[in-house]
Amino acid sequence: MTQSEQSALAVLKRYYGYDSFRPGQQDLVGRILAGRDVLGVMPTGAGKSVCYQIPAIMSSGLSLVVSPLISLMRDQVDSLNDIGIPAAFVNGTQSVDEQSTVLAQALHGGLTLLYVTPERLETERFRRFSAGAAISSVTVDEAHCVSQWGQDFRSSYLAIAEFIGSLPHRPEVAAFTATATERVRRDIVRLLGLRSPCVTVTGFDRPNLFLDVINMPTKAKNRWISRYVAEHREDSGIIYCATRKETEALAAWLQDTGVRAVAYHGGLPAEVRDRAQREFVTDEAPVVVATNAFGMGIDKSNVRYVIHHNMPQSFEAYYQEAGRAGRDGEPSRCTLLWNDADIMTRLRLLESDSGNDRLTAEEQEVVKISKRHLLDGMIGYCRTAGCLHRYMTRYFSDCDGDESGDGTRNGSVPDEGRRLTGHPQPGRTGTGTHDGTCGNCSNCEGTVESVDVTGIARAISICVHDLDQGFGMGKIVAVLRGSKAQDLLQRRMDALASYGALKDVPDARIRDVLTQMITDGLLHVTEGRLPIIQFGVDAARAARQDFHYEIKRVSHMRGSRTVYGGEPGADGSHDIPTDRESELFERLRAVRRGIATDIGKPPYIVFSDKTLRDMARIEPVTADQFLSVNGVGDNKLNLYGKRFMQAIASYVSEGVSHGR
Ligand code: ADP
Ligand code: ZN
Repeated sequence: MTQSEQSALAVLKRYYGYDSFRPGQQDLVGRILAGRDVLGVMPTGAGKSVCYQIPAIMSSGLSLVVSPLISLMRDQVDSLNDIGIPAAFVNGTQSVDEQSTVLAQALHGGLTLLYVTPERLETERFRRFSAGAAISSVTVDEAHCVSQWGQDFRSSYLAIAEFIGSLPHRPEVAAFTATATERVRRDIVRLLGLRSPCVTVTGFDRPNLFLDVINMPTKAKNRWISRYVAEHREDSGIIYCATRKETEALAAWLQDTGVRAVAYHGGLPAEVRDRAQREFVTDEAPVVVATNAFGMGIDKSNVRYVIHHNMPQSFEAYYQEAGRAGRDGEPSRCTLLWNDADIMTRLRLLESDSGNDRLTAEEQEVVKISKRHLLDGMIGYCRTAGCLHRYMTRYFSDCDGDESGDGTRNGSVPDEGRRLTGHPQPGRTGTGTHDGTCGNCSNCEGTVESVDVTGIARAISICVHDLDQGFGMGKIVAVLRGSKAQDLLQRRMDALASYGALKDVPDARIRDVLTQMITDGLLHVTEGRLPIIQFGVDAARAARQDFHYEIKRVSHMRGSRTVYGGEPGADGSHDIPTDRESELFERLRAVRRGIATDIGKPPYIVFSDKTLRDMARIEPVTADQFLSVNGVGDNKLNLYGKRFMQAIASYVSEGVSHGR
């Protein structure tokens, strides 16, 4: 280990209370310290903040962090102050005086990190400030916002590069995102003006999440959800609905069953929304029922479940929303409820989408096709019979077509300095078992019934070959079905071996199988206005003698389970808590609530659930013991150690009465 790696590790321990870096972190920290530009692509919860905060702590000069979300910014600053790092933010919610105070502090070297919204960068006041401040690095969080191909494009991001160019000395630039597609990454490098950046892409799997996909009639969904919520009263959860009306109806239903649930959607007055968010974040209301308007700014780490009442429009969106569960690394559950009607609704919406007036007809067509492509990825997740964790990692790997087998892969931005980051578990997921199942998703739990579609898949492959990999899905289906369409006959396609091979199979089934073949890598669809179906990286499989292919059958409804499927956490070190631990955990939670109220911050700023669980296991009563708890650094020991240790000591002394 180099000198600087050792120092970085010491900072991690001293300030954050963590013993080791997570995948990708050490690499990124090292590169930033060496003065390189970097692009870090890491899933939600992987620990991006540490990657730029540690270099900031270890360097002189001011580190500027551009972040689009005011609430996230506030959380970050609170967390940093709480571990003893001088940090602050400037954004439009502050008065001019407040902003001046912060900027003055930064100018005089009183701040290590300064968070700003991209809009601030364009203001005259900030330009004046930045001309005189010693800005040593600029970190761009949620960097995908710079790309029009992403879901969260923000035009203000386009001004970041120009801002950096206006600085007297070009600082090093670090960009972070959880969005993986290659096109977005290329945009980030280009539009932020990164200079031969090191690109680090970590695995996209989230091993602590139990992934659950349930096909269920629409009318059964609310009952399923309310039962699940009732069985997990102690837990915090998010329920995503497709419409505003649904969120209010379901929140009311849950309230009737005695659960404190709040509704959240874009149509509510700002103060109602703010209150809902505050109640959820402070654990006053354990459940929020929301549209996709909710969440971008939510950094609540102890969300134990995310339930989707409907299927989202893309797998990216699903990954992001479901990914809000378990950011603290504790076992959490992501359940997707869907049925064929949901799919039809999405398809209809896509077709009727009148699009954006500012685009030409041709551009609109491109957008529509790209959206259809994204939707297919989502449908594939609902229908796959395979492991859902595997689907997740494959989905993001497929953007490159060079999957490395362990869920990690190389940055595909052409650049000499790109890096590959190892993932700790060589298996498909962190909880892999010997029989190839992950043990942490509903498909691997084995209640899914599958339909053999080997014949259909084979016929599709032959047809793609017959057509010289030169046509789209519509033509392939038409040929296989033996269509008598004029252009098809003119092109003599009725003479192909695969013509009419699937004349008795419904269109929809052929499309389903084809879609799944794309997501499984047997086929590949080109991007562009007229997407063409070609062979994928795994195409040879379909030609093998022993080829066998299944899709998940539209299966019967299953009941809710009360236990989490995967007890072991990301590092496999979790034991099932004893009663004693659970009891102490509840007490520690109460202590945390008390402190949170006193300091006027959300409880997770004080300590994460993971830290409290570790504390309940260790039962520290001395400073040294307290420091050995995962997530306790020097500053937190000083701030909160006494109150927690007192609670633990009194719990231990009551031990006799616990009968232990
Ligand atoms: P992201 O921004 O990637 O979504 P965060 O930076 O918010 O994720 O980190 C998620 C959680 O993981 C936080 O609670 C953070 O303190 C924790 N964390 C980060 N790095 C480590 C580490 N090396 N060991 C243990 N926990 C970590
Ligand atoms: Zn699985």
